[in-house]
Amino acid sequence: MLEGRTAIVTGSTSGIGLGIAHALARSGASIMLNGFGDPAEIETLRAEMAEGNDVDVAYDSADMSKRDAILMMVERAQARFGQVDIIVNNAGIQHVSPIGEFPPEKWDAIMAINLSAAFHLVQATFDGMCERGYGRIINVASAHGLVASPFKSAYVAAKHGMVGFTKSIALEGAEFGVTSNAICPGYVWTPLVEQQIDAQAKSHNIARDAVIRDVFLKNQPTKRFATVEEMGALSVFLCCDLASSITGTAIPVDGGWTAH
Ligand code: NAD
Repeated sequence: MLEGRTAIVTGSTSGIGLGIAHALARSGASIMLNGFGDPAEIETLRAEMAEGNDVDVAYDSADMSKRDAILMMVERAQARFGQVDIIVNNAGIQHVSPIGEFPPEKWDAIMAINLSAAFHLVQATFDGMCERGYGRIINVASAHGLVASPFKSAYVAAKHGMVGFTKSIALEGAEFGVTSNAICPGYVWTPLVEQQIDAQAKSHNIARDAVIRDVFLKNQPTKRFATVEEMGALSVFLCCDLASSITGTAIPVDGGWTAH
């Protein structure tokens, strides 16, 4: 389906990004993996993804809070693959705190990684996509790109910003075969969520089951976590020719959360 296409997936050593990278590779795309982690484990992951799908898979350790590192990653991807057709802006972090106590450096880091990185990456690849007449930008936003929750001010602001940026790219790319869409997951079972469950269970002194039921899945009517495979399947569809008219959207994959 995506044979001959090439993709950079940020934050793809774990969770949703890894699920999307697997799905794109399975569909035939070459992949530039990115994110932090144990170098030996990442190399095993890279090699297995390449061999298992008969595609080229590379890895770049660029820190998404650093514009220069992002631009170098793009140069490496272009040198290795010839071009970059698909960008998945997925890397993201969270910090939970009341506004009055929110550390300004956490605000800056969340803005840099969850929002500005997408601008730097798209800026470096967008013109080439337009010239070739095909491009796909997939921005992993969140249900928090559509609605807010208390104590997540920076995250909510960055994710709403991501949805707005998605729309601007869509309008600029529309006549050139470049689509741009935001995926807005509700809670997905990943290490990011796993950490928050443990932290909340500890801070409220309640059991993990209670945190899952009463905090995380409270607003998710399906009462189940979404899966990284669901994010991967949607991403593959958005990259297909049959999704050429889907652009500028923010697609909830949230079990009905934002239908409330
Ligand atoms: P995760 O913690 O499992 O994975 C995050 C990935 O980003 C990892 O590969 C990590 O190494 C990478 N990363 C973090 N900081 C980075 C940096 N500075 N530079 C490069 N890479 C960096 O998280 P996840 O749950 O898979 O989340 C992925 C995205 O999905 C995030 O943008 C998150 O906001 C969004 N999201 C997650 C959920 C959920 O429930 N898990 C819900 C909605 C949105």
